[in-house]
Amino acid sequence: MVSLSKLFDSVAAGRTCRDLWHPQFSSCLRYNVHLWRTIMPGSFKLYIPLLVLPPLVKLNDVTVRYLVEHTLEYVYISCCTYVQAALSLSAQCALHNLLGRLNYWCVMFWPSLLGVAIGPPLPTPLLRLQAITFFNMSLEAAVRKSAVPIVQYARRSKTLGTLSFMAFSAAILACLRSGAVKQFWLVNPTVDKNAKRVCGHSGHCWQHLTDGMLKYGTVGIVLEAGRAVLRKSALLAKNPLALFGRAFLATCNLKLGLFLACYVGIFRVVCCLLAHRCDGAPTVEHAAMAGFLAGAPYCLYPTYQIYTLGLTKAIEMVWEYYASTRKSVGFDVVDSILRQLRRLPMLRLVQMLSFGYLGHVYAFYPHVSPVFHQKAMDVCSTNLTLGMKRNIAKWLSEVQ
Ligand SMILES: [Zn+2]
Ligand SMILES: [Zn+2]
Repeated sequence: MVSLSKLFDSVAAGRTCRDLWHPQFSSCLRYNVHLWRTIMPGSFKLYIPLLVLPPLVKLNDVTVRYLVEHTLEYVYISCCTYVQAALSLSAQCALHNLLGRLNYWCVMFWPSLLGVAIGPPLPTPLLRLQAITFFNMSLEAAVRKSAVPIVQYARRSKTLGTLSFMAFSAAILACLRSGAVKQFWLVNPTVDKNAKRVCGHSGHCWQHLTDGMLKYGTVGIVLEAGRAVLRKSALLAKNPLALFGRAFLATCNLKLGLFLACYVGIFRVVCCLLAHRCDGAPTVEHAAMAGFLAGAPYCLYPTYQIYTLGLTKAIEMVWEYYASTRKSVGFDVVDSILRQLRRLPMLRLVQMLSFGYLGHVYAFYPHVSPVFHQKAMDVCSTNLTLGMKRNIAKWLSEVQ
């Protein structure tokens, strides 16, 4: 079987970036002026959920100052994304003109990577958010694309998925409970030192439990409702009353709320039980045990997003735990490798490589490309990438 890269190089022979990207513009310059002028609103549209959802989730704690800072952050990330997208699109023409032909890896992979690399730097929290989101999506794409039998089996097996998610959850909560790692996760296992109770929380155990379940369940429902509103925005713009209609309610999925409520519920119950049994505040082992069992509700809502989030968080936290607690003994090879690795701008590298890979999958393997990424590309480029993707599909279908 001919590889896709060879096949593409053969169908692209004699064709130019104009055929692939801008048939309506005779010159690359005119096309580039057009795209830099028109694609900006797309990036602002893409991050509307980031603007709307966090204040909704925070509800009571929203202050004017928070809203102003949050809005400025939204404007900044949207502008950065616009520049990244425009640079990536310009790089498509630039690389074509540089090489004098269309090349498999110079369509999407290198331009996307370069766009992010040259684009303006994001503040660390946003960089982390973007790098992890891109990495998780590339992981999803790589798993779906893989033809290796064991990967295919693992992808379909709910039991394996649930068990491994439980293991990630245990590792994450053990790292967090140890105090050596401080990062965001679904639940916070730190113990309130002022609490009079043995299990390290204020109020009765049942209050602690119901409070967590209600809060997390609501957050899940709010997030899902927000997603449904975005998905059905066209319908709601025409008729706001459709919010109560069957078509809208059918898109609302309650499973995220159920998963979150069960996750926090099981975690708190197990921690309290173990603390009472051992007559002492929950230890690292207790947190690991409770975290493991709390991962079980994953089977209620097995999605790539939750799974890859658990996996990356587990890797990140175990890495941080290992790096911060490891004691160096004289000259140590592992230690020096670790130190060298920590010097690299890991988040930036992950962000660049993942974005390049996602762009590549978008163009050449659209059937495994994550839906969110496809939408993001189409929105941010006002469908310029969509036209390119269709052209590639058409060219390939002519020879297959
Ligand atoms: Zn061009
Ligand atoms: Zn308790």
